[in-house]
Amino acid sequence: MKIPKNIYEQIILHAQKDLPNEACGYLAGQSDRVTKAYAIKNIDQSHEHFSFDPEEQFAAIKDMRNENLVPIAVYHSHPETPSRPSKEDIKLAYDPDISYVIISLAENIPVIKSFKIKQRPDENHRVENNLRLEKNRWVEKEEINII
Ligand SMILES: [Zn+2]
Repeated sequence: MKIPKNIYEQIILHAQKDLPNEACGYLAGQSDRVTKAYAIKNIDQSHEHFSFDPEEQFAAIKDMRNENLVPIAVYHSHPETPSRPSKEDIKLAYDPDISYVIISLAENIPVIKSFKIKQRPDENHRVENNLRLEKNRWVEKEEINII
């Protein structure tokens, strides 16, 4: 995934602004190149999980259609935990094609990583070393290039 530096900084600012709660939103663009971030209200108002405000989510999707963009990633912050999907994040991941970008504010310097979360075809399915297994799902880390 390619993210312009200003959008990368924008989602870090969003994560910091929404402390102590998790911040969330979409990254949209074309193919794997992000061109726009949509901050969406976390109606859970929680530091451990998030749910998109349905109206803001709908408005973001509509705006993407108008601008001929596709959702590339769902992003959210982890105020106190590392940048990797929680058990709940994995359970709730509904789309194997979308990326899950997690901004961790647990350390002094924000850490951003991206993941794809996929269904495991069967329990004997072999996975490579860099993949993390969670029951019937697997998590694949993804490169982020700041452009
Ligand atoms: Zn999470």
